[in-house]
Amino acid sequence: MSAAPGLTPLEALRSGGKRAMAVALARLEAAPGEQQTLALLDAAYAGARAHVVGLTGPPGVGKSTLLSGLIQGYRQRGRTVGAITIDPSSRKSGGALLGDRARIETAPQDDGVFVRSMAARGRLGGLAALTPAAVVLMRSTYDRVIVETVGVGQSETEVAALSDTVVLCVQPGSGDSLQYMKAGIAEIPDVVAVTKADLGTAARKAKSDVAAALQLAAAPEEGWTIPVQLVSSLERQGIEALIDTLDDHARFLGADGRLERKRAAQAETWLQDALREEFGRYGLAHAARWLEGPAIPPGHSPFRRLREVARKLRSERGTERFAWEIGR
Ligand code: GDP
Repeated sequence: MSAAPGLTPLEALRSGGKRAMAVALARLEAAPGEQQTLALLDAAYAGARAHVVGLTGPPGVGKSTLLSGLIQGYRQRGRTVGAITIDPSSRKSGGALLGDRARIETAPQDDGVFVRSMAARGRLGGLAALTPAAVVLMRSTYDRVIVETVGVGQSETEVAALSDTVVLCVQPGSGDSLQYMKAGIAEIPDVVAVTKADLGTAARKAKSDVAAALQLAAAPEEGWTIPVQLVSSLERQGIEALIDTLDDHARFLGADGRLERKRAAQAETWLQDALREEFGRYGLAHAARWLEGPAIPPGHSPFRRLREVARKLRSERGTERFAWEIGR
């Protein structure tokens, strides 16, 4: 992005509304390794502003309807919101992903909200870092970022690696999410939202079932008890309380360096994922020598680090030492 005179690229992104964000994201896809892109990512990584909320849960549970409700609730509180819906199973990127799911309604002229859908994996050219990079750009610009996955499978892990606070959505009358939690398959959420609370008794039963299952299964982070809350996006009930809870969790993370530690660990995960995607398992193993200690030195962004390590790997690939390790 060409910055306006007197503005740094990050300042231009922050003041440039939807258009600036769209241009920055397009650049990210077209030229992820370019110096200009990396400089913006470095600044955005260092200049995080947003609390990042992830929404997970099985298809049909009501995530995208809740996303709309949360966006509206945040806007009413005067907060700006960036939202990313991710389809981990899709190779496509762009606006066609949402299919017949609930539409996310936002005012086109409102520069305080930006919604984008993108594919997370299966793209050419080692772009596993694309989604984290998009999250980093948004979290440097908006007050809140919401990440929602559209797909199934690895989506909980995917969202957990991108979010400060993970909200698991559970639907009344469906045993699925409960089964997941009992089996310990799912990532432990920070908050559970029982959706479709307008269904009445079934919703209240789901809430007490989930609370009971959490007591048995979850090892809560010390100092945080996982709240289970009823929400009805249809009747706009419980959304304000959910936003309050999300703010509570943001404050919880803000204390004692929890947020910094969490984000640093996520950045290492992004780096490893991107290296694995670009160079395979053996490439990642070969890179381990450069990733010891802090894989990402203080002051570095994972995106610049990725380019540095990738350059070293490329220069050693094809050498005898590398070939020997791969053959091992
Ligand atoms: P997603 O696949 O998890 O994103 O789910 P959607 O948000 O697309 O919602 C799936 C279906 O549940 C749609 O038909 C919604 O209209 C419906 N739904 C969503 N929220 C509510 C709610 O609060 N109450 C009721 N009764 N239905 C809802």
